[in-house]
Amino acid sequence: MKFLVINSGSSSIKYQVIEMETEAVLAAGLVERIGENSGLLKNTFCPGTSNEREYRVEQAIPDHQSGMLLVIELLTDRDKGIIRDASEIGAIGHRVVHGGEDFRGSMRITPEVIEALEKNIPLAPLHNPANLDGIRVAMKIFPSVPQVAVFDTAFHQTMPPHAFLYAIPYELYEKNRVRRYGFHGTSHRFVAGECARLLSKPLTACNLITVHLGNGCSMTAINNGISVDTSLGMTPVEGLVMGTRSGDVDPALHLFLKHNKGMDLETIDALLNKESGLKGLCGMNDMRDIHKAIAQGNERAALALAVQTYRNRKYIGAYMAVLGRVDAIVFTAGIGENDSIVRAESLKGLEYFGVCLDLEKNSAHSREARCISGENSKVRIYVIPTNEELAIAREAAAVVSA
Ligand code: ADP
Repeated sequence: MKFLVINSGSSSIKYQVIEMETEAVLAAGLVERIGENSGLLKNTFCPGTSNEREYRVEQAIPDHQSGMLLVIELLTDRDKGIIRDASEIGAIGHRVVHGGEDFRGSMRITPEVIEALEKNIPLAPLHNPANLDGIRVAMKIFPSVPQVAVFDTAFHQTMPPHAFLYAIPYELYEKNRVRRYGFHGTSHRFVAGECARLLSKPLTACNLITVHLGNGCSMTAINNGISVDTSLGMTPVEGLVMGTRSGDVDPALHLFLKHNKGMDLETIDALLNKESGLKGLCGMNDMRDIHKAIAQGNERAALALAVQTYRNRKYIGAYMAVLGRVDAIVFTAGIGENDSIVRAESLKGLEYFGVCLDLEKNSAHSREARCISGENSKVRIYVIPTNEELAIAREAAAVVSA
């Protein structure tokens, strides 16, 4: 059985075809610049194997439907392709950013689900319409294939009210659903499951702090397998310092910027989302560039790293207080999986709380899930590669077979 995973953005579609029995990736690709003069499809068949083959198609791609049709054409190509026709696709899993309070788990897509997604557009005005485009197109092209929505927010729907409410007039929650939702749930859930396996414990008996550090960054406190707090809030700006997003700031900053810099709300929103975080502090948002700059004596780059890792440490401390007992801290995503310096700095000074890193294990390079804590560390520390596409495919499989 082959599953298609789709992550549809405003001008792009990321996809994978996964063979569910072996969980092997048969094709992975990206359609970019949809709606622009020249679009691009980049596709790799059998990535990471001896049979790896890459294809690029450059042509105008006016909309999501033509983008998806181009992908299907390549996937079913008689010479190059990996499937005979669309009937070989057993199910389609769609990444959906915001499920609001309507979805606590993945859902088979029905007209009612689409209606609920439309209702949630005000909560994610940039992401949900793009996700819906992908869903509508896939339903048109594959009318008889079951389609499943997998939400970034669903894993965090177990947060209790004292963790998800902002201390603002309660009416704003009741009438407008203003609250913290959290994101990256698919990734936090995936690495939590893998960590439980490595700890040889059922997930329902695990207390974990999962630390997702990519372009977007977030941390989750997991109590007996469920999310009880997470750092991203109503939108994906709150919490940790990210590539271009600020994370926590004083909400009165908006007023200051309006009065002193003449900025309107849209400008401030763009500033906090696209011009802040590591980029705002040192002009670079790729952690590899930041390390190179630090090695050349760039003090601002060092400061950006210090601000990010200090915030990480502060949140780890907060979540240790939330959980009481912590079995493991798990690092994942681009920075979390690769950057031993960020990991070490984020855990510095936590020995008293039973968090002891093995410096040698931490700096050894590997693509595998691994334990990097010292023998005597009360809290285990792991690096576990995330795999959101596989997680979405597994979710889709679970929904379809239920
Ligand atoms: P996204 O949130 O877009 O999925 P990723 O999880 O791919 O992002 O993470 C992107 C980040 O990971 C970038 O800041 C990049 O610098 C960082 N990264 C990737 N590889 C390395 C590496 N070897 N060392 C340090 N940082 C890395």
